[in-house]
Amino acid sequence: MKILAVNRIGNKLYVDDNGVKYAECRTCKEVGRGYLKPIADFVEAKQNILGVLYDCNECRKGEKKRWRKENPEKTRAYNRSQERIKKNREHRKKWEEKNKEKVKKMKITRLNRETAASDTIPIKEKTKTLKQYSYSCALTGTENNLQADHIIPLVTGHASNFFENILILKRDLNVSKNGRNIFDWAVQEHEHLGFTLTRFNEVMTEVALRSGMTLEEYKEYVNWCFDNQIDISG
Ligand SMILES: [Zn+2]
Repeated sequence: MKILAVNRIGNKLYVDDNGVKYAECRTCKEVGRGYLKPIADFVEAKQNILGVLYDCNECRKGEKKRWRKENPEKTRAYNRSQERIKKNREHRKKWEEKNKEKVKKMKITRLNRETAASDTIPIKEKTKTLKQYSYSCALTGTENNLQADHIIPLVTGHASNFFENILILKRDLNVSKNGRNIFDWAVQEHEHLGFTLTRFNEVMTEVALRSGMTLEEYKEYVNWCFDNQIDISG
């Protein structure tokens, strides 16, 4: 067993020779029972150092039961609010299904608002690329926090504001790419930004095709734009 992580109260995450992970449960440890349990016995929690909640499912169940018994009033109120949340969610989902066009329009409006500040890309061009990738980030598939990105950036002096040069990306991807060469950027950042190079190459093949080029030709063109920058700062 190898230790992978230790959290602030000293509990550890292990991995065995077969790649199975185990974590230590806070409550099991406190009451003195076997506290090293397979990761499957915990709820995942990415924000925590061990990647799971402090207490195993068994302990959480016991804890919940006790709390419910001691707080019947609060339990009822909690259950009511959960039901309300569930109903609202179902209601919203039904509304979205019935109003698909409206939902799309709302997404476009939000996208335009979000990129308005530094925006030079016409709405029509954005909509075209949005539609092309089914209203989601071209690289990650995420449907929220979308922005329009200049594939060849403005800083090169060769950027077009039209469809050929626009990609819809999740905000953090757009922020990260910014003025960089998209091919270098993808190689360096794809892992921590959560997309694959396979997907990237698919998308860039399509992008190249917009200008009647092969992927290789387009890559060369992008490199040329960076090697032959025009000073647009005035
Ligand atoms: Zn436990």
